[in-house]
Amino acid sequence: MSELSERFETTEAGAKQVGEKIRCDACPVMCYIAEGRTGACDRYGNVGGRIVRSDPLTILHHATEAGGEILPFAGEEWNGELVNTGQRFVTAIGAGTTYPDYKPAPFIVSQEVEGVDLVTVVTEGIFSYCGVKVKIDTDRHIGPETATVRAQGEAVGHVTTGEYGSQMLSLGGVHHLTGGSKAEGRVTCETLLDLCNRKPVELAIDGGATVIVEAGKAPIIDGQTEHRMRVGCGSATIGMFATQWRGLVDEVVVVDDHITGVVSEHQAGKVLGWEDTGIKIIGRRSTPGRYFKVSEPGVGWGGTTISDPLSILGDWNPKKGARPGLSLLMVSTTGEQFAYFELDQELKPVEKPFPERLRKSVGLIEENCEPALCTVLFVGGAGGSLRAGVVENPVNLTRSVQGLNTYVTVGGAPTYVWPGGGITLMVDVMRVPENAFGYVPTPALVAPIEFTLRRDDYLRLGGYASEIRTVDDILAAGGEYLNPRAQRAAAAVNPWPPLQQLRRSPPGSAK
Ligand code: SF4
Repeated sequence: MSELSERFETTEAGAKQVGEKIRCDACPVMCYIAEGRTGACDRYGNVGGRIVRSDPLTILHHATEAGGEILPFAGEEWNGELVNTGQRFVTAIGAGTTYPDYKPAPFIVSQEVEGVDLVTVVTEGIFSYCGVKVKIDTDRHIGPETATVRAQGEAVGHVTTGEYGSQMLSLGGVHHLTGGSKAEGRVTCETLLDLCNRKPVELAIDGGATVIVEAGKAPIIDGQTEHRMRVGCGSATIGMFATQWRGLVDEVVVVDDHITGVVSEHQAGKVLGWEDTGIKIIGRRSTPGRYFKVSEPGVGWGGTTISDPLSILGDWNPKKGARPGLSLLMVSTTGEQFAYFELDQELKPVEKPFPERLRKSVGLIEENCEPALCTVLFVGGAGGSLRAGVVENPVNLTRSVQGLNTYVTVGGAPTYVWPGGGITLMVDVMRVPENAFGYVPTPALVAPIEFTLRRDDYLRLGGYASEIRTVDDILAAGGEYLNPRAQRAAAAVNPWPPLQQLRRSPPGSAK
């Protein structure tokens, strides 16, 4: 054996040794780690000359009520009786990886559930192709579509198509992770990691606002916490509340950046017999009682730039119903801004104290608004090599997932798998246990991923039969990366893999 070969002698844990340091080969960075230290990602360390995964392997219990409370670590001391009463799900959190992709997944777990013999293949995937979609519940204009979103001054994504009551961001992706400068890749990775692990991140949008985003929390836009998500667009709000206003006020305008509604002209008002008022809205009339572009988008009333709602009104027309004393309610789509006016002798609206009779209807708008939240969906491609750790012929796994015969979860949370080629999945990070995501400095995100399918189907697809183990064995003996096992209750929103779906015999399988 040459001197070089001796220095790279393989250890039991699959690491290579150089003097006092040993090499971690769980990602392409190949850290040499000194005794008692961790590698660049902090997920693996050198403990007594062996590579050990720093976080425990997480096992979820579906028999326990929701709450997510962590149970005592189940390392060497655990006797298997503490919570071994129901359905257990070995997640990939803390499982380790298939990298460098020549070996089977770290855990391939068999379990019979309600008469169905299942296999769950468990691995932490390294996702170079990944990002997050962020939904920010707000009417406020946070920036134009396609505007660059920055974190720590680096481009990490862009503003994408707004949705109903929400602004949307698309962050990360392979171009920001690997296609720009080193700093851009590093900051993008850090931003994605924090968002996926439900930490707050400050994002600045070119030509727009600064937003603090934290999954499951209210957005903070230019320093202001958003409290409510709009009840609907201006037109929808008119439709929903027209009956409430009938007989209490002569005209109602719901101010909205997208569709401002006017009750006397709107179909809902017409059906209820609302009389013409001679009102004139400055904006582009779409259909009766529905106006586009009454203002530029902004952070004022209904996501417009306006702070004075009268600025969207033209002259009142006496030939079409305008008269002194005519009453007017103007309100935003969240009910947060409202004002009451009456026309004077010159048919000019004059603000008056807000009448008690209208408070209930404005309160009803507010009451119907849901709390404004930030939602973060992780999107990743479980592509090429990761699949080779599941079955010997990777395309078989893709076909099985697409045929709904393999159920894909991330840390036990259900995913949406996009139709079409590959395994491109989305998951709500709020359904994934906290701090389940990691990173490697390549840069890429590390996410837990589990594939559950029928055992006979797994074997038919070319699964690694000799690697299949029981949950009890995994709890007792652990795996290649020598970390302890932690058990916790599964969140009630995350169901056990759907047995009804998996019970079906996939086409082409032996009956
Ligand atoms: S970055 Fe982490 S996973 Fe990659 S080699 Fe270093 S310690 Fe191992």
